[in-house]
Parts: sequence; C-alpha cells; structure tokens
Amino acid sequence: MSASKTYIVEHLDEELGPWSELEYLAIAKESQENGAKFCLSSLPAAFKVPEGLTAIPAFIAETRGVEEIYAQDKSRVCLLDPAAAKDLAPEDGETFDVFLFGGILGDDPPRDRTSELRKKGFEGRRLGPKQMTTDTAVRVTRMVVEQKFPLAEIPYLDFPELKWNEHESTEMPFRYVKGEDGKPIMPAGMVELIKKDADKAIDDLM
Ligand code: SAH
Repeated sequence: MSASKTYIVEHLDEELGPWSELEYLAIAKESQENGAKFCLSSLPAAFKVPEGLTAIPAFIAETRGVEEIYAQDKSRVCLLDPAAAKDLAPEDGETFDVFLFGGILGDDPPRDRTSELRKKGFEGRRLGPKQMTTDTAVRVTRMVVEQKFPLAEIPYLDFPELKWNEHESTEMPFRYVKGEDGKPIMPAGMVELIKKDADKAIDDLM
C-alpha cells in the first residue's frame, strides 16, 4: 500500500457556507503539510471553488462523486461513519489509502446524513462515539492511519466552551483534538466566525 493518503470530502450540502470553507481550507493545508491529497468531490459544475483552496497544490476539485471515481477499486476506500460497527485502528492505514467523509456540517442532534454515503457500500469505520467536525474527523483519521496513534490515545476536548467575556460563552457540541496550547484545534478564523454568529444571534433576540 502506498504511503500517501487521499482524504475525500463528498460535498453533500447545497452550497459552501463560510463555516465549511474554513474547515476545507484547514484540511487542505494540513494535507499539503503531510504529503497527502485532499479532494472535494461531487461539486456542482457551476461551483466556484474559493481561491484560497485552489492555491493549495494538495487540493483537488472533482465534479464526479466518489462512487464513480473509485468504481473499479471500492475496497481502497474507507468511509468514516459515526454509525460503523468497528472503530478506526492504525492497521487500517495498510488496508485503505482513501478516506471518505461526509461534507456536511455537524448538527446537534446528528441527523445521520452520512447514511447517503453508507448506502453506496463503502467499508465503514467509526472515530469513537462522539460527533466531530469534518476537519477534526480528518485530523483524527490522519493521526491514526499515518501517525499510528490508537484512537484512545489522542488527546480530545469534548464540548469546549468558547468564552467571549465574563458573561457570554458558546459551547461547541462536538469533539475536538486538544492542541499544545490546551485549546481545541480549530480552522484559522473559526473562533472569529463563531463569535460573529453568536453576536448576531444575540442581536436577533433584541
Ligand atoms: N451530523 C452529521 C455528521 C457530520 S460530521 C450526520 O448527519 O451524519 C461530518 C463527517 O465527519 C461525517 O460525515 C463523518 O464522515 C465524519 N465524522 C464525524 N464524527 C465522526 C465519528 N465519531 N466517527 C466517524 N466519522 C465521523
């Protein structure tokens, strides 16, 4: 099995919201740094890929869906599926070289939209019981299959609270990887975006 991995996010939402854009940029940058590829598949033909993404050599934009791209070698592809019976393990890096994720925002409670990919018959693996953001799911997969961390040894932060000031904070209903600074690893610009959305929600209440 070749050492170099491909991470594919199958685009399932109608449009690319600012939140997904930041997540995809983070995945592309980390793939670039680690000698991997990041493919965004099933893009509508008229889709305008953000410039930040096209500037990253590891990034590939695809209008075809995964089913078509890997029609001949489905067994290379592992679907990261919160409902899979088996958890991802370092040895899966020998079995698979393509890792597939649902390009959908986390929702709380989860609506199991990953099922759209499960139906296509790819072998599935779970990343433990908690819902992660897509960039976290890719990061954790990379740590397991490339850096050979068992899932249980990855430092996580569950449902972190982002504090805005003495009185206001936002709790993120997801699992993140804990960074060296003790904070959840999030895409560049994400904290600012969440803050903006939180301010807007408060304004809307007024
Ligand atoms: N709420 C969504 C999940 C969105 S998370 C749903 O309805 O399915 C976006 C993607 O990250 C998922 O499609 C999956 O590929 C991956 N993912 C997130 N948490 C995961 C987990 N605990 N195990 C496996 N994959 C996970």
